[in-house]
Amino acid sequence: MGLLAIGTPLEWPEAKKVASHVRSWGIEQLLAIWRNAKGKERDALLWGDEVEYLVVCYDEKKHKVRLSLRQADILAALATDEKLLHQGGGIADAQAGTVRGNETIAPVFHPEFGRFMLEATPGKPWGIGFKDLLDVEPNMKWRRTIAKDHMEKEEYPITLTTFPRLGTPDCTTPSYPVSGPKLRSQFVPDEIANPHIRFPTLAANIRARRGRKVQVNVPVFRDENTPWPWRDPSVNYDLHQWPEDDDVRNGAVTDNYIHMDAMAFGMGSCCLQITFQAKNIEEGRKMYDQLSPLGPILLALTAATPIYKGFLADTDVRWNQISRAVDDRTPEELGEKPLKNDRWRLPKSRYASNSTYISQDPRLRREYLDPSLVIDTDLKQRLLDGGMDDLLATHFAHLFIRDPIVVFAEDLQELDLSKADHFENLQSTNWQHMRFKPPPPGSDMGWRVEFRPMEIQITDFENAAFSIFIVLITRAILSYDLNFYIPITKVAENMETAHVRDAVSTQKFYFRKNPFSERPVSRPSASGTASPVANSRPPTPVGPVEDEFELMTVNEIINGQAGSGFPGLIPLVESYLNSMNVDVETRCELARYLDLIRKRADGTFWTAAKWIRHFVQTHEKYGKDSVVGEDIEYDLVKAAERVTEFEGRDGFAAEMFGRRR
Ligand code: GLU
Ligand code: MG
Repeated sequence: MGLLAIGTPLEWPEAKKVASHVRSWGIEQLLAIWRNAKGKERDALLWGDEVEYLVVCYDEKKHKVRLSLRQADILAALATDEKLLHQGGGIADAQAGTVRGNETIAPVFHPEFGRFMLEATPGKPWGIGFKDLLDVEPNMKWRRTIAKDHMEKEEYPITLTTFPRLGTPDCTTPSYPVSGPKLRSQFVPDEIANPHIRFPTLAANIRARRGRKVQVNVPVFRDENTPWPWRDPSVNYDLHQWPEDDDVRNGAVTDNYIHMDAMAFGMGSCCLQITFQAKNIEEGRKMYDQLSPLGPILLALTAATPIYKGFLADTDVRWNQISRAVDDRTPEELGEKPLKNDRWRLPKSRYASNSTYISQDPRLRREYLDPSLVIDTDLKQRLLDGGMDDLLATHFAHLFIRDPIVVFAEDLQELDLSKADHFENLQSTNWQHMRFKPPPPGSDMGWRVEFRPMEIQITDFENAAFSIFIVLITRAILSYDLNFYIPITKVAENMETAHVRDAVSTQKFYFRKNPFSERPVSRPSASGTASPVANSRPPTPVGPVEDEFELMTVNEIINGQAGSGFPGLIPLVESYLNSMNVDVETRCELARYLDLIRKRADGTFWTAAKWIRHFVQTHEKYGKDSVVGEDIEYDLVKAAERVTEFEGRDGFAAEMFGRRR
């Protein structure tokens, strides 16, 4: 989660004063990067995945599980492990005279927002080869083993998106008193966040800019015995330590919603992210646009977040909770007060679905763009004057409507155009579901695109499957020049839809009916084999935009509609694989992963959210009252560990992926 620069961070009112300064320097740095790198060509499609973990700690005697706050110790142990250092990433193997592959290069571990979190990436990027795809799962398993090896006996790296009872008393080890000066939360201590100065400053300045604590309210799931209307019983209305303690007396709590009040409730969630390096800027821009409409679909397919603060929620994914947990908008920007001091109304949080498209693609119709997109027109003009085209300038001028949140005094002395710190300040605190990443100055990296919506899955098999699927659909997109454009506002609506309980099986999403371009392409048949028939529908862009898309189930989007309807993302991937002469063995292995996606989409296999709900609702200690107590939590986390380890081979939790070999 961003670069960990050090220095003296400015507290909010001071940071606010230099916001314009930071923004204009950020734009100059962006222009410098863009000028240098716009012609950069790189090898086709390197990619990488990021897996985020929670570190849990079992207290067997008390039948209790807590979050372990030993992130720093674990990372230090990993960083000083001689054997791992020896296997360091990207080191050429002197003996063989070649660069080693990821089966021998140690993965890299990174800190994350929560002091109970870890992030791990492969030691070097994955390449273009299909065989590389088969290394992903073993590598993810290796990462988990290494992580576990550097933990205490009672600790375990678990890939649940959220810790079920985060924010209840005694949920961390060690334990700290709540209501610290940074978060001012009545549920979690300041020590819940990574102590690196960036993180507490981020949390404190978001709160200060907003003028009150963040308000992470998520609807509670109403079960048979849930009192209705439901008032979050864990809220304390009698605290008077901080001015922010008034929030709950001023309407921050809503009936029938679980109430949370700190950044940790969002950014303490784990996800699976994929980053691609494109051949060049054009390819990167195309990938950014074409993967964008897939975001909500993949969010729904990976849904894994049905519990918050010890209660069953009525939603299945983490997205909106993170969005609210970092929402720094003022009452004026939110439209609660007339605009006086702020510049504009802002319809979305800094963490939200993509706001615009950026590809100079003739198929991108003006109608797909959001007519009410808020941009900083002065900064856009500066980018245009600097030679950037309108679409890309609009994208960045939109990201730059935000204030920088963490500003270090030392960085304001002089503008260094060989760096990207001011640009990254804004870029890395705009958490949209895709991120378009210019090459870092001075590096040999190319233009990159990050796919960010997916929830972390319980097993490495599933995490590998979703990574592989995204890689293959991206290659199919580029190979067939597929067109998934729909109006960007429909993508935002889909993101909301993805929150609905069991959206995979119950909801419909806006999706483009015909993904083929004017060029005749091999259209895959239902059986997945390519048949070189030209597309029967008229090419875009003519006719009303509304005719181009319709509401589809996730099953239709992934597996295809009957007849001449949407061919389905999996059949498109199959067709691509057929065209690529993949050897039989690799093809068989890949089929196992694609099968998971296929069956998740058609409802044969459950999402983790569905499985967790079922686990809770059938637990003997569950009172059908939405409460997920300590015993249930312990058994659930243990069960998740078992699932991670056995992946259904022991017959347990086979609802999620069958009985694996
Ligand atoms: N953990 C965050 C999420 O679940 C993302 C943090 C990051 O960008 O690394 O979306
Ligand atoms: Mg991360």
